[in-house]
Amino acid sequence: MTSSQPHTTSYYAATANQLAEYPCLEGDKSADVCVVGAGFTGISTALHLAERGYNVHVVEANKVGWGASGRNGGQMIGGISGDSKMADSLGDEGERIMWDMGWAGHEIIRQRIKTYSIDCDLKSGYLDVAIKPRHMKDLEAYLNLFEKYKFPYSYKMLSKQETQDTLGTKAYIGALQNDGNGHLHPLNLCLGEAKAAVSLGATIYEGSPVIDIKRGKKATVVTEKGSVTADFVVLAGNAYHFLEPKLRGILFPVNSFIIGTEPLPEQMVNEINPQDLAVCDPNYILEYFRLSADKRLLFGGRFTYFGSDPEVIKANLRPRMLKIYPQLKNIKLDFGWGGTIGVTANRVPQMGKLAPNIIYSQGYSGHGVNVTHVAGQIMADTVGGTLERFDIFANIKPMRIPGQHLLRNQMVALGMMYYKIVDRL
Ligand SMILES: Cc1cc2nc3c(=O)[nH]c(=O)nc-3n(C[C@H](O)[C@H](O)[C@H](O)COP(=O)(O)OP(=O)(O)OC[C@H]3O[C@@H](n4cnc5c(N)ncnc54)[C@H](O)[C@@H]3O)c2cc1C
Repeated sequence: MTSSQPHTTSYYAATANQLAEYPCLEGDKSADVCVVGAGFTGISTALHLAERGYNVHVVEANKVGWGASGRNGGQMIGGISGDSKMADSLGDEGERIMWDMGWAGHEIIRQRIKTYSIDCDLKSGYLDVAIKPRHMKDLEAYLNLFEKYKFPYSYKMLSKQETQDTLGTKAYIGALQNDGNGHLHPLNLCLGEAKAAVSLGATIYEGSPVIDIKRGKKATVVTEKGSVTADFVVLAGNAYHFLEPKLRGILFPVNSFIIGTEPLPEQMVNEINPQDLAVCDPNYILEYFRLSADKRLLFGGRFTYFGSDPEVIKANLRPRMLKIYPQLKNIKLDFGWGGTIGVTANRVPQMGKLAPNIIYSQGYSGHGVNVTHVAGQIMADTVGGTLERFDIFANIKPMRIPGQHLLRNQMVALGMMYYKIVDRL
């Protein structure tokens, strides 16, 4: 990545509260910590560190929230991808540790929205919907965990009829509703957190792709026009990271796309989602949707496409949206955009060290809004010398994906085909 790009054609970029302009990195700087990448992982890390009094510099190739963090479905979903694998490796207490960690990000987000008065349309309420009987079994098992760990928010199973009444569609055979999850405007959250970090002394540079990282007792992050020398470097480029071959080789890039309708009439809103819930289906090639604050349906899904043409994205997702909501057939689509998710082979997020003072976190496998916020805290703990939760992730060996950086698009296409078959079963 050598040249910098503006925000994508998303609903979020069109409705951002304030697109603050941060300067390009010029000249040689020094800091306690240099973070590479200003998505949720990078900004969350920077804010945790700034709150603890560290001098942090964040270097972003494009804009704050330019990557997946400013383009996603905005669904704040509990759990960590691959958590059962991690729980197994932690012994008796594993399930409890992973359960707690899987909700910790929500509390960080809620707290920050309150502390820093971040206006990002946060709403509580979420439905995991079932398409097949085996999905209902999974939801019942999940419900047992809510009961076992005394989940503090309300939750309940919905029958087929209740799901239909709640969502105005016959597409699902049941659902699990929980009010601990919710939805928000992710770009406004990221921008608000960046502003909070800056208010506490952090420095952010935009339009500054990092082209080299020099190892040493202190590490130096190099861009075309400047550098930051720091005691610690945190790499937070996730699926958009092209610098360190080791990190690229352990992550699958998977594209996901979203369309946004025009604002819906009130009677339509009351028919399809009167409780304003976020919704996610259980398929691997999953579909997810919710209403925006101005009552557009934001409908997301994956398909094999490597471009960013809004018309192609609309043409692909519209039929899928109409399958669930035929009543929207005369509704105009105003937006279509996509982004890249970092998926790992075992679905477990990856945290580790490239050198004693260069650490990374990536690969939330589609589950990033919540987990990036925990990751930021873990990165900050690691810098501060508390390594317990870092070690949980670092001890799980990432699976290398041979040659994936050479065959990026073919691998993504093959993966999509495989998961389409799994979803049909
Ligand atoms: C369409 C879509 C829908 C999604 N929906 C959801 C959802 O509803 N709920 C959910 O929980 N998760 C969702 N996700 C996943 C979630 O958005 C991600 O897991 C999360 O945002 C990852 O954050 P990040 O900061 O690690 O990476 P990113 O947000 O991708 O940020 C990485 C940043 O690093 C920068 N960067 C990379 N290389 C360099 C370099 N060399 N120099 C400087 N900067 C660099 C990039 O420009 C980018 O800004 C979705 C993702 C997509 C794409």
